[in-house]
Amino acid sequence: VAPGDPVIEERHGIQSISGRLSVNGARFVLIRPETLAALQKSVEALLADRAGECLAAGGRAGGARAVAAAAHEDAPARAARLMRTGGEIGWGDFALERLTPSALVVTVRNSPFAEAYGAADHPVCHLTRGVLETLAASVLAQPATVVETACAATGAPACRFETRPTAEPA
Ligand SMILES: [Zn+2]
Repeated sequence: VAPGDPVIEERHGIQSISGRLSVNGARFVLIRPETLAALQKSVEALLADRAGECLAAGGRAGGARAVAAAAHEDAPARAARLMRTGGEIGWGDFALERLTPSALVVTVRNSPFAEAYGAADHPVCHLTRGVLETLAASVLAQPATVVETACAATGAPACRFETRPTAEPA
């Protein structure tokens, strides 16, 4: 832990009863990052570049639950809540770099997915990308896809995600 880093010490929202773990009432499962990295690599072996889309789809499904939980808040508060929750559940240290009606930029330090994957020649945090696509769909005024433009797995100091406007069909 670096000086000044926030340390999450709150544990009261987490319960484990009869094999059912919940965080603030929503069911979660703890999975080692190595499990997900092995899953990711085996899907990549089968599907190559299309593997990332499979993982992003998973991220979008989980992200939809997270975004729905913040549906009553305005866009900045919804984004801030997702950043905070991401850190609390161990997905890395999220920071909202930019949020406008047309653009969302998020950086994530300490991505567990990049760390468990190991050195790579391509960005690997597709699960996080999928979650952020759901957030983008919720807070932006226009359709957008999310691109991971820097990844710790490729040697960057942090992972960075930026929206790109989705081209309207001609
Ligand atoms: Zn990454």
